[in-house]
Amino acid sequence: MHQVLVLDRNCNPLMPTHPARARQLLKAGRASVYRRYPFTIILHDREGGETQPVTLKIDPGSKTTGLALVADGQRGQRVVWAGELVHRGEQIKARLLSRRQLRRGRRSRKTRYRQPRFDNRRRAEGWLPPSLQSRVANVLTWAKRLWRFAPICAVSMELVKFDTQAMQEPEISGVEYQQGELAGYEVREYLLEKWQRKCAYCGATNVPLEVEHITPKSRGGSNRVSNLTLACTLCNQRKGNQTAAEFGHPAIQDKVKQPLKDAAAVNVTRGALYRRLASFNLPLEVGSGGRTKYNRVRQGFPKEHWIDAACVGVSGEQVHITPATTPLVIKATGRQSRQMCRPDKYGFPRTSAKQGRMQFGFQTGDMVRADVPRGKCTGRHAGRVAVRAKGRFKVGATDGISFKHCRLVQRADGYEYPKGGEAHSSPV
Ligand SMILES: [Zn+2]
Repeated sequence: MHQVLVLDRNCNPLMPTHPARARQLLKAGRASVYRRYPFTIILHDREGGETQPVTLKIDPGSKTTGLALVADGQRGQRVVWAGELVHRGEQIKARLLSRRQLRRGRRSRKTRYRQPRFDNRRRAEGWLPPSLQSRVANVLTWAKRLWRFAPICAVSMELVKFDTQAMQEPEISGVEYQQGELAGYEVREYLLEKWQRKCAYCGATNVPLEVEHITPKSRGGSNRVSNLTLACTLCNQRKGNQTAAEFGHPAIQDKVKQPLKDAAAVNVTRGALYRRLASFNLPLEVGSGGRTKYNRVRQGFPKEHWIDAACVGVSGEQVHITPATTPLVIKATGRQSRQMCRPDKYGFPRTSAKQGRMQFGFQTGDMVRADVPRGKCTGRHAGRVAVRAKGRFKVGATDGISFKHCRLVQRADGYEYPKGGEAHSSPV
């Protein structure tokens, strides 16, 4: 459950409302469904209205980006809408690789030797690899979309993994990490980055890592970041009262001295996203990963992408989340395909040339509902449709449903929503 987005009769956003209220309005005929995903209603009789400031909060990730709309009302900050945007960067990378390989193979088979050409190609400024570009574009699409459906007055995003400022230039001055609990979180994120999320001694990954003193405290070692590393429990215990060199790892002392570039804290995608969001001309708050985690752990929230989004930045210190809140899962699928027909694994055409995009009023990617009265597909089906020129469509996981039984729920918009997600987001 999350709240329903509301528009007035001129399509201007109003405050999101409770699903029960939306249901009443729809039943009374005072509103209509404007859009299914995210579920939005439009009021027939209202023009303008009181709104509270809503912040769009974003936690960008490589696989999943958390989105949250947080309203700032009399009762403080509360999450009114949440979403999890699943990216397709990996898929894009794999497809481009496969295309490149097919073309290279074909070129070497079919073309006589050619002299290499001048290296005269230059990439445009701000160019990003397509897999990263797609992540930025996904988030921007949804930021703009939500901006249209909710009275968003500010944007807040997690920009860096750790805040060097909060640690006061660790490499230069070093800081007592007990000086504040928050600084401790920043130090931990910093160490995770610096030691690549591995035990510094045995290289173990995916195990609980402890912050460890290279020169033990009992022998005068300090709490500065320059004396800290990460170790698994076993190595930490084995090392005991020894220094790293005595424990047989003298190289660790040298690695500590190499400064971690600032670039390591900001990744390329987040930087590009930040610049694009800045062009919205809305107040833009940025936070660090350390701060997000500190906010989340202190409030006792579980680790979810959308909860992380709600906890981003200073404004995420105190957020109210209704236990029943569930995020809308939004999966990026892309639109259509540029391939003229499907090739086999050798790159030869396997199917006939593709037919038109629209078939019987539907296109691949539309969200549909199908009530099949008889036959082997009898029953109700809902989900994303894959159209076929012969009129037998695939709806969700079921293939062979006639177009005659399909009813449009929402036009393809480059994203897929959960199967049966209609029940999730629709109060009617
Ligand atoms: Zn270890």
